[in-house]
Amino acid sequence: MIEILNEAEVERAARTGRLVGTILQDLKARVRVGTDLLEIDSWAKAMILDAGATSCYVDYEPPFGRGPFGHYICTAVNDAVLHGKPYHYRLADGDLLTLDLAIITEGIAADAAISFIVGPTRDPRDEALIETTERALEAAIAVARPDARMGDISHAIGSVLTSAGYAINMEFGGHGIGSTMHQDPHVANDGRPGRGVRLRAGMLLAIEPWVMADTRTLVTDDDGWTLRSATGCRTAHTEHTIAITANGARILTLPAKQEAPAPETA
Ligand code: MG
Repeated sequence: MIEILNEAEVERAARTGRLVGTILQDLKARVRVGTDLLEIDSWAKAMILDAGATSCYVDYEPPFGRGPFGHYICTAVNDAVLHGKPYHYRLADGDLLTLDLAIITEGIAADAAISFIVGPTRDPRDEALIETTERALEAAIAVARPDARMGDISHAIGSVLTSAGYAINMEFGGHGIGSTMHQDPHVANDGRPGRGVRLRAGMLLAIEPWVMADTRTLVTDDDGWTLRSATGCRTAHTEHTIAITANGARILTLPAKQEAPAPETA
């Protein structure tokens, strides 16, 4: 079933989304070379609970996971890309980190992800991976409006990823979102324009292009959660929750204030 939110509910979703975007921005600003992934998880926990929000992840127990996730944020480093379970690991200069966060406030969920490079050493190939997923997300948002089809969004994403030279994995993509984190419809990261679900004002979509540098094949860690590239290549993932409105797409998961300049690394 696809949920259609009324205007008051979209405003509630926007408050949840702003909190997601702000927490991700604040976490990014705190991350340094040497930060432990479990520290990021504890910071996320404090930020979520201080805001009176509920984590969508802690008790999340889908068929593919091994028991509840048990953490407040997904942390995926380098070859890890999706469902990255935090563990004791200190980030190194040049690591490519993805943070993925979903929470609920006022009964409405929002979900977003960012990828960024830790420390001053930046591999241009990693920058290209990140920039491509960001550009694919922008392209998808640009075509999201009432009466567009889901295939238009998928095609916009797939065109950017393919023309940048990346192979697309179709096992995991975006999703409807609303009173719960994962809902219909599925938002594939490639597809045919003019096909699929017709978009309507009041739909919330979590759109999430992700890529692996030289493969489309995933492998799962022994933790039953973390998905990484089969070849060990690096990966990137960018996600926003948007609302379809009469005027087009409204991005809900932007931070409350403009992103601050990247901090100097200690
Ligand atoms: Mg997400």
